[in-house]
Amino acid sequence: MEMVIKPIDLPGVSKQRPIVIAGPCSAETEEQVLETARSLSAKGIKIFRAGIWKPRTKPGGFEGIGIKGLAWMKKVKEETGMYIATEVATKDHVFEALKAGIDLLWIGARTTVNPFAVQEIADALKGVDIPVLIKNPVNPDLELWIGAFERLYGAGIQRLAAIHRGFSSYDKKIYRNLPLWHIPIELRRRMPDLPIFCDPSHIGGKRELIAPLCQQAMDLSFDGLIIESHCNPDAAWSDASQQITPDVLDYVLNLLVIREGTQTTENLSQLRGQIDNIDEQLLELIAKRMRISREIGVYKKEHDMPILQSPRYNEILEKRSNIGEQINLNTEFVKAIFREIHEESVRQQMIIMNEQA
Ligand code: PEP
Ligand code: MN
Repeated sequence: MEMVIKPIDLPGVSKQRPIVIAGPCSAETEEQVLETARSLSAKGIKIFRAGIWKPRTKPGGFEGIGIKGLAWMKKVKEETGMYIATEVATKDHVFEALKAGIDLLWIGARTTVNPFAVQEIADALKGVDIPVLIKNPVNPDLELWIGAFERLYGAGIQRLAAIHRGFSSYDKKIYRNLPLWHIPIELRRRMPDLPIFCDPSHIGGKRELIAPLCQQAMDLSFDGLIIESHCNPDAAWSDASQQITPDVLDYVLNLLVIREGTQTTENLSQLRGQIDNIDEQLLELIAKRMRISREIGVYKKEHDMPILQSPRYNEILEKRSNIGEQINLNTEFVKAIFREIHEESVRQQMIIMNEQA
């Protein structure tokens, strides 16, 4: 679907990168909301976020303060002049949020996965002109994410933006949600006019990862940041470990290096030329490797041998990663490349096995 995206364009909010949205994970009490908002406003933050309805992994946790929190958000708007933003997951949420004068809505990661829920929100927004930010689905599915934009766009919402909040994985290591930067990068390629925000709080899950993730997002030309900030993070009722005080937020933002250079220097194009060349060679070599692999497939078929030879596969991964290490290539990276190559070889050989004689 061809979409003509309009800028979010909020009067008084600078269009310079990064556009910042900040506020607590959840609205908890009137004091917490107002105190956090006042401090953020004093630091020049113009858009305040707070979750009113919280999708929690298990029941029994804090599921959001509900409608009464909207009145506190309204106070924030009246007192500080900030724009206010919250998450909606149902048509009732949309109805209540609009009634309370919420200026921006976002759709959460657990909602984006569900086309019925996204459609319900889109239908509830028909005829309303409000910016809607859509978080990536929890699973790394770009089409599902784009589908959500199409649903909102189909309802007449043109001021759209994306929030990259990372993708959940079974084994959590450094990140709470894996960044998989290539997905928002591909989104940018597919929808070049769509502003993209990074949510370093939900990607990192830890305070100390917020600054480096913000910098990475800026280096990848993201337009904005949505960061969880709480007047007393340790005491937060949800996501305590990933929230920072307004003071720390200000510090993090001031340290960001924003590189706006768009000029391609001659040197850079020379280097890029070299890269293009190398990539062509890599592709040719891979094609050659696949041809040989198909020959092996023919041999295995003629000799009734199974395709998969596990010892051989392990040997390839081990040997290649050892060679890689000697020339300063990251072991995991090398293994990942050969897993992909091997998978494609197996696929090619399966085609051969299944060919009629
Ligand atoms: C949030 O922003 O507080 C939230 C619930 O985020 P996500 O949908 O990314 O998990
Ligand atoms: Mn949160």
